[in-house]
Amino acid sequence: MKFIDEIDIKGKKTLFRFDFNVPLDDSLHITDDTRIRAVLPTIDYALDEGAKVIVMSHLGRPKGRIVPQLSLAPVAKRLSRLLGKEVRLAKDCIGEDVRQLISKMEPGCIVMLENLRFHPGEESNDDEFARQLACCADVYIDDAFGNAHRRHASNVGITKHVKICGAGFLIKKELNYFKQALENPARPFVAIVGGSKVSGKLETLGYLIKKADKIILGGGMAFTFLKARGYEIGRSLVEDELLPQANEIMEAARSLRVKFYLPVDCVIAERKSADAETKIVPIQEINPNWMGLDIGPATTTLFSEVLNNAKTILWNGPMGVFELDAFSRGTSAMVHSVANSHALTIVGGGDTDVAIHKTGEGDKITYISTGGGAFLKLLEGKTLPAIEALDACS
Ligand code: AMP
Repeated sequence: MKFIDEIDIKGKKTLFRFDFNVPLDDSLHITDDTRIRAVLPTIDYALDEGAKVIVMSHLGRPKGRIVPQLSLAPVAKRLSRLLGKEVRLAKDCIGEDVRQLISKMEPGCIVMLENLRFHPGEESNDDEFARQLACCADVYIDDAFGNAHRRHASNVGITKHVKICGAGFLIKKELNYFKQALENPARPFVAIVGGSKVSGKLETLGYLIKKADKIILGGGMAFTFLKARGYEIGRSLVEDELLPQANEIMEAARSLRVKFYLPVDCVIAERKSADAETKIVPIQEINPNWMGLDIGPATTTLFSEVLNNAKTILWNGPMGVFELDAFSRGTSAMVHSVANSHALTIVGGGDTDVAIHKTGEGDKITYISTGGGAFLKLLEGKTLPAIEALDACS
């Protein structure tokens, strides 16, 4: 795969795919612009090189229809403010008006195309739609890591229709950090996996067991493993049908000599609600009518000790229902331990990222991935369709 700094883009119509799928509030204000800021190095580079910069993205789920509330107008405005430069928003992402607008562009100018998902052809990877997107471009650069696990027209189909294709600096950075952690990690390498369900992370666990020295398991998914070990877990989240797989994973860890850590205590409540009465109990003493909603203080101490001498830490998924203050302490404590470790620390997955920003310690983490789904796919040992498409171009 070629990267943008290996391609001549001077004066060229350079079409970029970014992931500008940012959260908006009811007044259509952007509440978090991390995804826009993440690709500024790529845009700055292209503008400095004198490229004609055409950017495209999706926003939300308009499902192939024009939904005015999901226009990229707020994104164009924010990007313009961040760059200190006019960003013109086209009325559509294909068609004669777009062609006209692009034909008048000067080097160092920037035009944003309207939401790709206003057309059904984007998500169905329609070849004709991909061809129309490509028609004005001399060069195509993909830097939408957050979308790389999807097979869409603007990140896969399009590569068949533009002669010169490559990736931007964000994709380069994401893949480099990922390789650093998983291909030749500094050891001990500790993987932390949390979140709600085992079913969504079985393949991840299967993959990480072959790579890591130690695995820490927290969140709702830990209760399936605790039940498999014979503990009474009350009404905690459990996937009974996965008890055999949970046992297989723990057995595989034993035979590979991977240390496997489960919570030893937890915060329990009768209900998953902000005002519920809570208790901290050892894992052996979960009341049959209560549920475990966070790791307890003894677990926090145990997990922090495991992290103490780690050289590489990879983390996906919260330790509890961190959205509610009553059950957020375990996740916050893990953020502090990870942030204050001396390891290379890589965190990915939407929720973990939110939890870290909540504690304000984001700048102490080596790398926070911008791609939830794409990050998880890599953690399953899979390749990403968008990356495969770029590889096929070189
Ligand atoms: P995931 O998307 O699998 O990473 O799961 C994230 C979700 O897991 C968050 O919304 C948490 O509230 C939820 N979660 C974490 N721990 C628990 C728990 N002990 N019980 C129920 N939900 C949990």
